[in-house]
Amino acid sequence: MNYTILVNKKNLLSEDYEPENLVEIHEPMGAKLDKTYVNRLNANAYNAFKEMQRDALRKGYEIFIDSSYRTYAYQEKVFADVALKKGLEHAQKFVAPAGGSEHQTGLAFDVIFRRNGKMIEEQKEDDAEIRWLFANAHKYGFILRFPKGKEYITGFNFEPWHFRYVGQKVAEEIFVAGITLEEYCQSHSL
Ligand SMILES: [Zn+2]
Repeated sequence: MNYTILVNKKNLLSEDYEPENLVEIHEPMGAKLDKTYVNRLNANAYNAFKEMQRDALRKGYEIFIDSSYRTYAYQEKVFADVALKKGLEHAQKFVAPAGGSEHQTGLAFDVIFRRNGKMIEEQKEDDAEIRWLFANAHKYGFILRFPKGKEYITGFNFEPWHFRYVGQKVAEEIFVAGITLEEYCQSHSL
């Protein structure tokens, strides 16, 4: 598995791209997702997540995966639904097109928190859990994939809830340099 695979609005995955080594995740989920949706993530990414989740819990933060692997067809539907409800321009700005979501790699996920037994459906950058993730996720091999102020590079708005597995070494380098995966791939000619 190539953990630095670059997927964005310009680098699309094909319709038949299917990631290797996905494992099912059974954790508390938020209300946003359809009840038939099953979270799946690359096994190595999930093992790293579990370690991060355990360490977060020691600090009192209950962090779960709310949305992970999505098929091409699923993303196509999400895009179409948003375009229908809010217009094509809105969809193009806020939703990845089919093939352009790295959720299709099985290496990306959105987080959700639980506080006092209640799932917190909206994640904001000043949430204590998010601040902890921003400061620590790289130690486990994750990067904040769509940072604030880098929209012009990633093509996506700031998403404080979306993390991507790239492995520890790469995550550390990206974190220390304060760059995006796009910039990392460019500087390493990937
Ligand atoms: Zn996401």
